[in-house]
Amino acid sequence: MSKPKLHIVSLSGGKDSTAMLLRMLEEGMPVDIILFCDTGLEFDAMYRHIDKLEKYIDRPITRLKGKDSFEYLFFEHEPKRRNPELQGRKGFSWAGPRNRWCTATLKTRVINHYLRGLSKDYEIEQYIGIAADEPQRVHEFNYPLIDWGMTENDCLQYCKERGFDWEGLYDIFHRVSCWCCPLQSFDELRKLRTHFPELWEKLRYMDKHTWRKFLKNYSAEELEIRFSFEEERTAQGLPIKGKEFFSELRKRLDDFNGKE
Ligand code: SF4
Repeated sequence: MSKPKLHIVSLSGGKDSTAMLLRMLEEGMPVDIILFCDTGLEFDAMYRHIDKLEKYIDRPITRLKGKDSFEYLFFEHEPKRRNPELQGRKGFSWAGPRNRWCTATLKTRVINHYLRGLSKDYEIEQYIGIAADEPQRVHEFNYPLIDWGMTENDCLQYCKERGFDWEGLYDIFHRVSCWCCPLQSFDELRKLRTHFPELWEKLRYMDKHTWRKFLKNYSAEELEIRFSFEEERTAQGLPIKGKEFFSELRKRLDDFNGKE
């Protein structure tokens, strides 16, 4: 006998998955479970958005969280190291483009564990909020936004029309994910420093107390030097790119790093 279907919406809380959920419900599509997996690193406004959304749709949102906190895994965890050079290092430290341990440990593994429990009794249909202009799909999932041809901008607009504004997060950032993600763009990091100075300070603290450099070419302290130099230059009406800018920046970074 075939198992009954369970329709599960993966909700990151961002504009795309929020728009997908809202439209699915508005169109009367089946939605059995709405899953939000919490890394613990969302902006406070994102947590408030999830609460607001839950009230608006008048349906429960299932919040999942891994058993270990990001902080523990980042600073303390001692995994089996395959690379002998990393023996004795504590914590996973910063993620990198080829090592997104946090996505794997704090999201994928947690969600898969939850779904495995359900898949004994149900056939799972998962709905993922990837916009039509961001095509990185995996064939076994459903992508309603792509079927509807909704782009990232359409999604934001759709949510705004229904009163969701993330307290301005999308007026600042193009993408909203973990505030300390090293995979976000330079520009997003600059904005984090400007608009969320307390989170920027926390990021600097984390970088000072871990073994892997925040970005391949910049530690958080070096970024701080660059961004404050940019501020100085901008205040003087000088450009923040070009040969002169980078040569002066190099001097400042070398001074900071104690180089001749
Ligand atoms: S958004 Fe960045 S920090 Fe957050 S889980 Fe993904 S890779 Fe890790």
